[in-house]
Amino acid sequence: MDFLTLLAIYLCSVLGTAALLCVCSGRKGGFLAGSASRASQVLSFVIPARLQRVTQRALHRLFHTRSCLFVVLHITLQAAVYGEYTWEVFVYCWELQFHLFLLLLPYLLLAGNIGCFLLCSRADPGVITRSNHASLVKIYAYDGVLFQKGIVCPTCNTEKPARSKHCSLCNVCVHRFDHHCVWVNNCIGAFNAKYFFLYLFTLAAMAATIAGITAAFLVQVVLLTDVMHGSYVDDRGQEHAVEILFLVQHLFLTFPRIVFMLGFVILLLLVLGAYWCFSLYLALTNQTSNEWYKSRRYGCSHHLTLQPHDRQVVYKNIYSRGVWMNLKEIFKPLTVLERKKKT
Ligand SMILES: [Zn+2]
Ligand SMILES: [Zn+2]
Repeated sequence: MDFLTLLAIYLCSVLGTAALLCVCSGRKGGFLAGSASRASQVLSFVIPARLQRVTQRALHRLFHTRSCLFVVLHITLQAAVYGEYTWEVFVYCWELQFHLFLLLLPYLLLAGNIGCFLLCSRADPGVITRSNHASLVKIYAYDGVLFQKGIVCPTCNTEKPARSKHCSLCNVCVHRFDHHCVWVNNCIGAFNAKYFFLYLFTLAAMAATIAGITAAFLVQVVLLTDVMHGSYVDDRGQEHAVEILFLVQHLFLTFPRIVFMLGFVILLLLVLGAYWCFSLYLALTNQTSNEWYKSRRYGCSHHLTLQPHDRQVVYKNIYSRGVWMNLKEIFKPLTVLERKKKT
């Protein structure tokens, strides 16, 4: 069963890498960047100074500037999965008379996903300029905890509207800033949050349909060949009934690329599905990732901020207007007129 150990190590490393990239890619100075700098400090004792400078420049380029590297990686992975799906899974499933619409569903989702990706990466996330500042500053009230009135962005030299944040990668302040996404190489703000939400959804749905079709194909193969009722002889010459581990090994040796892709797609589905659920939770509660991250410090008693008169500040999300209105706000960002109507 050596190959199963190798497979488990492979799956764990892919899952770990995917989870780390998803969690850390959105946040400048995140855990990954921090770990990388700590690792470079340790390695500085063994690696020549010149190589260190090159590595540091590469890491800086990767995590602290706008770069297409993650977009290229994203397209490469998508091409590899769809290449394998088209080349093998689609052809075999077609021969096994799977329904055509089911087999075409991943391509429809891909078209939708590419559309959302292009809209999300090219759309204005809500960049605060001198011309729109006056209207954007009126949209959200300052909650006095996460967003204080009168704070000026030192780079843009304008007063920060409530819920906005300066993105150091794009070097602009963004209205209703969520995070900077390296996978779409753009900030996620008030005006492109809807595209990002749909982009994540279609990505998770693509992984789900490809995983479902591939798993159904493998189950069909097992049922048709009746492998489960057979037996095998091990290295010591003993005969055993076929059990699940043998079956996985058998399928892996018969369809190595398909099983490999299925493992990868299932891991992607878990990570993307969890991330989409988190995005849905944020949308329903009218929070941005930035606000969720910052508000956590007010959850623990030892992190409560002490005000003059020794009053403890308890963070309360003042932007929530009910589940339905919160979700609507993602797809139709608030304007000054609506804010006036509301108040
Ligand atoms: Zn700024
Ligand atoms: Zn940005």
